[in-house]
Amino acid sequence: MKKVFLPVIVFILTLTVFASCTKQPMETKQGFFFDTVVSISLDKKDIDKAESTFALCGELEDIFSRTKEGSELYRLNNGEVSSLSPKLSEVLGFAMNVSEISDGAFDMTVAPLSDLWNVKERTVPPTEEEIRDALSGVGYKKISLSPLNIQNSTIDLGGIAKGYAADKIIESLKKDGVENAIVDLGGNVALIGEYSIGITDPFNPQNLYAKIKLKDKSAVTSGSYQRYFYYDGKRYHHIIDPRTGKCADSGLASVTVISESSMEADALSTAIFVLGKDGISILDKFPGTDALLITSDGDIITTDGFEDKYSLELLILN
Ligand code: AMP
Ligand code: MG
Repeated sequence: MKKVFLPVIVFILTLTVFASCTKQPMETKQGFFFDTVVSISLDKKDIDKAESTFALCGELEDIFSRTKEGSELYRLNNGEVSSLSPKLSEVLGFAMNVSEISDGAFDMTVAPLSDLWNVKERTVPPTEEEIRDALSGVGYKKISLSPLNIQNSTIDLGGIAKGYAADKIIESLKKDGVENAIVDLGGNVALIGEYSIGITDPFNPQNLYAKIKLKDKSAVTSGSYQRYFYYDGKRYHHIIDPRTGKCADSGLASVTVISESSMEADALSTAIFVLGKDGISILDKFPGTDALLITSDGDIITTDGFEDKYSLELLILN
């Protein structure tokens, strides 16, 4: 397992999970993978099983990390891969599907723009010319997965890989006989069992906006409050609109998607954040998914029947 250095960066919770008091006491172990804190909470009797999930995270990082030298994605981006491993192929295939359905609002070739904006280190926005330059290298239509050809493009799976990892962790814990688990990869939450989930107030991230109940599902939030810098009173965040090359500015403050698949919830929350409130309609193409959107004005928009299905409780009243 990797050493955990906490908290050098302040990690903003996007989803908070409350273990039900009727359950046995749980214990939590943490690691640092995918540039985020990975928390695994299990029944006390199962806690030793967390170690193997961290080993799995390491293996997945060796596939999906864009920055780790020698990872499969790193080699793919450097033209050194001629055929994809099944795992990378699965994620790229799904990313392509979401790119097409969202008409490029989700775009895994966004790397030149995420590098340019680099909100973790930047303090001043890039120039229009720099944005135009980076934008010219972006576009999912320029690449092909079969036959494999990503020449002149760079793939960034930051909007989907944590979800895939959460799914794989859940799968391995289930195989290990675990019956209760909370897997949290920096706000990508996936569950075995039933829990209450708190959705962060995007305007005041130390508070909760709403609570929902979820069983054996994943919830993933994309929000403009997660990674950002301020310049001249304006917030510049990490979710980019590949059509403009700038931070998505579609009138939403946060998007939480619920699905049995965390990969699906992850990619779709990013896509809807870029598309804006009308983007919720793309969920029609993904059966079993639901969403809760918080607009920049503080209004809540949900898929039909959300309130009853997830026992929605609003904690902040406008
Ligand atoms: P998320 O926090 O899951 O919404 O994903 C944001 C991360 O995905 C960013 O840090 C980038 O690495 C990447 N990203 C940013 N904008 C997009 C986009 N429009 N489509 C796909 N990935 C994106
Ligand atoms: Mg995402």
